[in-house]
Amino acid sequence: REAGGATDAAVWERIKDHPCYSEDAHHDFARMHVAVAPVCNIQCHYCNRKHDCANESRPGVTSARLTPEQAVRRVLTVAAQVPQLSVVGVAGPGDALYDAERTLRTFELLRAEMPDLTLCVSTNGLALPDRVAALKALDVDHVTVTINFMDPEIGAAIHPWIFHDHRRWTGREAARILHERQMEGLEAAVAAGMLVKVNSVLIPGINDAHLIEVNQAVRAKGAFLHNVMPLISDPAHGTHFGLTGQRGPTPAEVHRAREALGEDARLMRHCRQCRADAVGMLGEDRCQDVTLDPVDDVA
Ligand code: SF4
Ligand code: SF4
Repeated sequence: REAGGATDAAVWERIKDHPCYSEDAHHDFARMHVAVAPVCNIQCHYCNRKHDCANESRPGVTSARLTPEQAVRRVLTVAAQVPQLSVVGVAGPGDALYDAERTLRTFELLRAEMPDLTLCVSTNGLALPDRVAALKALDVDHVTVTINFMDPEIGAAIHPWIFHDHRRWTGREAARILHERQMEGLEAAVAAGMLVKVNSVLIPGINDAHLIEVNQAVRAKGAFLHNVMPLISDPAHGTHFGLTGQRGPTPAEVHRAREALGEDARLMRHCRQCRADAVGMLGEDRCQDVTLDPVDDVA
């Protein structure tokens, strides 16, 4: 059963207008991403820094980077044209919580302009333990963390380096730190009462068999939903994996991997791997339909 079918009334109240957390809501409510986070603190092999963060979006689509003020103007413009808009998230193009000033400022301005909006953030988790309190203070209730591994050996095959504590770490040591910070951040966010969704990128031959372990661990720590997303590996997107011949999974492999997690896996099945500047219902990018301010002052 999909976790979106949760029966607890209080939880339902919190997810009923969030199209990513509730499959029912994704028919009726729209979300919007604002691309205000320019830099990242880790390297994923599947990422090309020229494009949006693959944590929440498909690679290969570049979005303009906005200042917080531009982002808010854009949200107000969209809200006037898309009445179903209920959620605004920051999901890239880099990591939303590294150098988080822009993300937090955007949320602060949005809270002032549209107090009823649900705010949402997506991160690789490295900086999450340091940001939970600030997010909580702005009533950011929904957090997505991309967690691809538990075993640092496997992590090192996916994330070659991280930048943490004023220096660059590589290999197994980098993966160990990333893992510890992801677990710490997940626990802190859950303890703060946030609804945490975990995204895992399914990479055939690398972490496919390992995702059961990931699922069990994140559920045990209180993750609300687990979204197993297929790697989009295409040399045209410039992904490192694509260039080295790493293929993405077939639809049958994705299905098998999700089924292997069992009935209680709390899986999200309606993810459409939207772009980081997506506007509208899940799977429906309405950027062309709504009239947006020109981005005159790209930071
Ligand atoms: Fe790219 Fe996102 Fe990974 Fe950073 S966390 S390297 S932006 S896919
Ligand atoms: Fe939030 Fe992710 Fe949904 Fe965007 S796609 S609104 S960041 S859960």
